[in-house]
Amino acid sequence: MIGQPGAGKGTQARLLSDKCNYPQISTGDLLRNIVSSDSPMAHELRETMNSGRLVDDGILASLLSERTSQADCQGGYILDGYPRNLHQAQTLEDLAASQAKSVVLISFSLDEDVLLKRITGRRTCTRCGEIYNIFSRPPAVEGYCDIDGAPLARRGDDSETVVRERLAAYRNSTAPLIAYYRDTSRLIEVDAGQPVDQVQKRIIEILGSLPGQSA
Ligand code: AMP
Repeated sequence: MIGQPGAGKGTQARLLSDKCNYPQISTGDLLRNIVSSDSPMAHELRETMNSGRLVDDGILASLLSERTSQADCQGGYILDGYPRNLHQAQTLEDLAASQAKSVVLISFSLDEDVLLKRITGRRTCTRCGEIYNIFSRPPAVEGYCDIDGAPLARRGDDSETVVRERLAAYRNSTAPLIAYYRDTSRLIEVDAGQPVDQVQKRIIEILGSLPGQSA
């Protein structure tokens, strides 16, 4: 799944993961895990991510190959936030071929002004990762997760300045992937302005209609 920051790919990836029983692999979460550790790589990654730029392709390639070789990925997996440029798309094609899998790209897009508002309202559970929005999907108790009661937090890269950088990275590096996948008929385009359940219904319908699929 690819999309601008705040377009809802994380939310949809979680829903689809529950429905299909494929693990959701968020490359942003994998990187944030490293950043929160005390490893030598953490400092450099933190700087790149806090500026809104893309992390080096080689780092992503090894994270991905390691994560997708785990047992829970055998039947398939949902990538949330990968690939983000043409080089990564090629890496994914090679990896998928070596795993006898095929890639379908689900692309989310939405007007940038709407996204900015969405992102500034976004809050994430510090324990389970559930995503809320103070404007459109507030938790029952302000500041705390409905599922496990843990505190909610705002991501460090969700400030307006950084979001503008992330939108530019999407426009320049990620959006060109849409044409690449459209040419091979492996693209599902989603209007991310629709309500969450409608977006999910559409994704599941289209996935189910692809040859050899039963989502
Ligand atoms: P996300 O949680 O998907 O919004 O990602 C947060 C940040 O992690 C991005 O702004 C990038 O700095 C980095 N990141 C996540 N996925 C990738 C990727 N596939 N390629 C490069 N950088 C990534």
